[in-house]
Amino acid sequence: MKIRLASPLQPDSIVDGEGIRTVIWTQGCKHHCTGCHNAGTWNFEDGFEVTTDEVKKELSLLKGQQGITLSGGDPLFQAKACTEIAKYAKEIGLDVWCYTGFTFERLLQNKDALELLKYVDVLVDGPFILKERSLNIDFRGSRNQRIIDVKASLEAQKPILIEKYQGERIVENKIYRPQNVFI
Ligand code: SF4
Repeated sequence: MKIRLASPLQPDSIVDGEGIRTVIWTQGCKHHCTGCHNAGTWNFEDGFEVTTDEVKKELSLLKGQQGITLSGGDPLFQAKACTEIAKYAKEIGLDVWCYTGFTFERLLQNKDALELLKYVDVLVDGPFILKERSLNIDFRGSRNQRIIDVKASLEAQKPILIEKYQGERIVENKIYRPQNVFI
């Protein structure tokens, strides 16, 4: 199966989810959020195609990674290919985070999305909303986005947020930590 990527796999990220992670930057996004810092990933014709087997081979050679992060772009526009990659990541002991501009509730209504979510541990959902932007929240760009425990949420059929990532931090009234502002 083919997947269109925006850039090569990026190992050793510490801002795209918990721990040291390899980010898979998918190409293509229809959400077109105002203020998106990654507008170069919107066009579904840009980037380059690789096979999912090539991505899996690369993942098999990684060292010292806690997991993978599916980002973009929006990985949900290539849900089937991402499912194959996420399933493989789980098989080799990596955990899986996924960023999307869709809400969890919306994904519950889509068969392909549900298949992908079976292999996702943590979903960061919702569009980037410029007026909700904050540099003091963990692993997301705007306050409306939620960091979701996928397994618990699928069981409950509603989003269950991961408590430790909630809230907004201010240290001595200074912004002290750059954050992922992609989705
Ligand atoms: S912020 Fe994310 S969901 Fe929104 S347009 Fe950019 S890549 Fe797409």
